[in-house]
Amino acid sequence: MAGMHCIALIAHDEKKQDLADFARAHERVLAGYRIVATGTTGARVQEACPSLSVTRLKSGPLGGDQQIGAMIATGEVDMLIFFTDPLTAMPHDVDVKALMRLATVYDIPMALNRATAEQLNVFSQA
Ligand code: PGA
Repeated sequence: MAGMHCIALIAHDEKKQDLADFARAHERVLAGYRIVATGTTGARVQEACPSLSVTRLKSGPLGGDQQIGAMIATGEVDMLIFFTDPLTAMPHDVDVKALMRLATVYDIPMALNRATAEQLNVFSQA
C-alpha cells in the first residue's frame, strides 16, 4: 500500500447508492489505489466491491470529513470523490465546506457528482 496514490470517497445519504454503483463500475481502477472513506460510505463501498480494501474513517457528521481534510493537507489523499446532496440540510455543513476548501487549496481533483467523476481521466479511460 505504501506509495500508492490515495482516493477519498464520501457520499451523503441520498447519494450513497450512486457512489456504490460508481465504485462497482470502476472497481478495477479503484483496486489500483489506496481507498479511504467516511464510515457509512466506506461500508457501502466495501459491500458493493468486496475485492477492494477500504479504510473507513469516522462518519462524516462525527469528524470523518475533517479527517479526510487533514489527510489532504498532509498530502496523503490525492483525489476526492464526494457525491454531495444539495437538497438536504446537514448538521456538519461547516465540515463539508472546509473539506471542499482544502481540496481547492491543495489543488487536488475533486468530483462532487457522478457526471464529473466519470470525466476524470483515471475513470474515463477504463
Ligand atoms: P458517512 O459520512 O459516510 O459516514 O455517512 C458522510 C456524510 O454523510 O457526511
